Formats: sequence, structure tokens, C-alpha cells
Amino acid sequence: MLLVESRAFIESATWHRQRLHLVLSAMEHFAHELRTEGFEVDHRHAPTLRRGMLDHCAEYAPSAVIAMEPHRWDTRERLERWGVGLVRNDRFLCHPTEFAEWASCRNRLTMEDFYRWQRRRLGVLMEPGPSGPEPVGGQWNFDHDNREPPPSDGRTWPAARRFELDAIDRGVMERLPEHVVGAEPDGTWPVTRAQALFRLAEFIETGLPHFGPHEDAMLAAEWKLAHSVLASSMNIGLLHPREVAQAAEAAFRSGAVPLASAEGFIRQVIGWREYVWGVYWLWMPGYAAMNRLEATRPVPPAFTGTAPTEMACVANTVGHLHAHGYTHHIERLMVLGNLGLTAGVDPWSLSEWMRVTFVDGAEWVMLPNVIGMALHADGGMMATKPYASGGAYINKMSDSCRGCRFDPKRRTGEHACPFTTLYWDFLARNEQHLKGNHRMARPLAAMRQLADLPAVRERAVTVLDRLDRGEL
Ligand code: SF4
Repeated sequence: MLLVESRAFIESATWHRQRLHLVLSAMEHFAHELRTEGFEVDHRHAPTLRRGMLDHCAEYAPSAVIAMEPHRWDTRERLERWGVGLVRNDRFLCHPTEFAEWASCRNRLTMEDFYRWQRRRLGVLMEPGPSGPEPVGGQWNFDHDNREPPPSDGRTWPAARRFELDAIDRGVMERLPEHVVGAEPDGTWPVTRAQALFRLAEFIETGLPHFGPHEDAMLAAEWKLAHSVLASSMNIGLLHPREVAQAAEAAFRSGAVPLASAEGFIRQVIGWREYVWGVYWLWMPGYAAMNRLEATRPVPPAFTGTAPTEMACVANTVGHLHAHGYTHHIERLMVLGNLGLTAGVDPWSLSEWMRVTFVDGAEWVMLPNVIGMALHADGGMMATKPYASGGAYINKMSDSCRGCRFDPKRRTGEHACPFTTLYWDFLARNEQHLKGNHRMARPLAAMRQLADLPAVRERAVTVLDRLDRGEL
């Protein structure tokens, strides 16, 4: 078994410390486990992946080099060029060829259609009906039950156990490059199969019963609420989505968790996650270059932590990211993504920053989520309208605004919320791009009726300038 730790890969980006540590430590633990099981392992530290492979071949003269289909488009292209044999990727429930077949007979690729197709063909949360299998509980989707604001009852949220760092973990920490960012690894992220199975069981028992109603809520003092934090384990191959979905369904069928919680979580695993994987392969390589709104702004210093920010929601989100290399999906979409969209941040730059800064980052995850969902850079291939909103949404769904120096209701003046100012400016700036979208008709009409629109747009110039300079 050949494993290559590529120096070029390590040096290629400003990684979050926990993200890079997770990948390198998991690989080294895997090498150790393989040796324990009797495999001969060549775990090579090489300048590049190619150099590692060539050196291995020179030393061991294998008759062939075989790899599983990789998770990146350009890596696949490179392996094929190097003559590496590829075997089918089994880390997902829907292979890209199956997804392409599903997509080939549809005009529009909606996640909900895909999710129902997955439920039917995999037999997940289905039960016999008079004319064939039906969704358990009589409906496919309980999403409308899962959009509640943060609870005000002062409840505690399920904790994620921290695993003790071992000699391998400590060794990897010592050889991380100097330019990494973020807090030291603290054992939050499973680096072995055993740890990942523990995290899965822990979530099913303590997190899943509370998952759902508040999955879109954001709290300054809670970095994960009832979210599973299992994505990093699935993305690096420590857990398979099938076993994760089965565990959630079993918990529901035993009566331990409500249907809305189980369904909401299973939809993320067999629906959304697999859909993103499918569209990535369907639309690459052209998808990576899409920039329909012609956005060119760099990732704001407020995101990267190179400048402090007075926007409490951004500060709280970036604080979670610094501490854990993780924020949950609404902080990603409606804080970072929303500000990126309304400020006009370059899609590729934001996607790359997220890929190297989040522990569960990967190109196949980030490109569709950033280009398609967050920044509407694909012009609506994935989402039917831009997910732009002012401060009102964040005020409703978080506790950030009450500790912020800005006022979410104001769009002009020194105390205007940057999200609110930029929301209206975004509509005005992109009116030509958006006016053909019937779902944007009402927001655009509201924008046109703003008596103070010139003042809003003038304020937006100041906001964007200060955002770029790290003074906001
Ligand atoms: Fe964020 Fe605006 Fe609320 Fe401040 S007022 S926390 S900037 S949404």
C-alpha cells in the first residue's frame, strides 16, 4: 500500500491547523492500522505526489499502480495521465455515472427530486403503501418544522467528546508548517475509524434527538448546537454515508428520535451531500470558472482573521472557525456566503479559502456550495435565486445582533448594518442580471421603491471600501 504525504500539497495553501492536522494524522493512523493488519505499507514523505509514486515504483517495481477514483477532478485527470489504474469510488451512495444517468432525463436538477429518488432506490425511511413503497409518516420532507430561531430557554447542547491526542497526533503537530492558521488541534476531530464510530454513536444518542428544529439557528456561545459534526469523518473515509443514514433510521424506528429529526438529518446525508457530489462531477471542469455576477472582490480580511471586525455575527462565526475549523451550514451560507454574495467576492477565491479553512473542506463540497448556493455564480444552475438577505434574517436566527454596534434595521448612516446596506446595494448593482428571475421580482420591486436608495448606495461604497481594508 502506497501512501504519499506531498510537501507540495502541504505548502500549497494557508491551511487551518486542524484541517491539515486531521488529514495528515488520519493518514498516518491509517498506515499504522494497515501495518497492524499485516499489509506492507510504504508511507512516503515526498516533494510531490508524482515524485512519491515514481520513487515507490523505482524501489518496488510494482506491475501496476492502482488507486480508487479520487475526489478531485484535476487529481483524476493527473492519475489517468500518469497511467494509474482507477477502481470505482465506493465512498458515496450515488456514483457520478449513476447521477449523470439520473440527470440525463431531467430539465431541472432539483435536490428534492434527487433526494426522493435516493430514498426510493435505497429504501431509506420507506414503508409499504397500497400502491408501492411510500415515505414513512406520509411525507418526504419535514423542513418546514426545522427553521426555528434559537430557543430562549437557556438549554445546554450536546457536547462532542474530545479524543486524547496520541504520539502520532503530537508528531504531526510538530511538523506542521509555520504558516497554518487557527487553534491547535484539541482532539475534536476523529482521526481513526474507531474514533469516528464513537462520534457517530455519540451523535445518534445525544445530538440527533435535538437535531432539526433549530438546525438553522446561530448562537455566539455554541459552535455546533445539535449538528452532527460527522462530515469530516465521511469526507476522509472514516465513515460511510450508508452506515450513518442507517444509524439515524434505526434510532427513529426504535422510538429514540422523532421522525422530523431523523428525516432532516438523513436528507443532509443521502440527499444534499450526494447531490453536491453528483453535480460537481457533472459540471466540472467548467463549473470552477463560473462567475455570472462578475464578482472580483478578494476574501475580506474580516473572514481570514487578518483584521478584527465589528460585525458581531462575522466575529462569532470566524471565532468558531478559528477554534474548531468548523462552522455549521447557516453560518457558512447566511453569514460568510451572504456577505460574500452581497459584497461581490470572487467565487473561486471564496471557495478555495473555505476548502483549506474548514475541516470538512474539499473541492467537490465547496465549489457547488459556494459557486452554486452561496454566490449564485452559476446563474441559477443549482439554486433558483440568490441567497441574499439583510441583517433581519441574522437578527431573527441568531443572538449576534443584540451585541453588535450596528443596527440590523438601518441601511444608511454610521450604525447601519453592513448586511442590510449591502443587500439593497446588491440588488441595485445586479438588477440587470437578476431581473429575468421571477423569484427576484418582489425584492427588486421593493429596492426600486426605496426613497433613500441613492444614500444606501453611497453608504455601500464606504462599507465595501472598509471591508476591503479590514476596517469594518
Ligand atoms: Fe451582523 Fe448586522 Fe446583526 Fe451586526 S447588526 S450582528 S453586522 S447582522
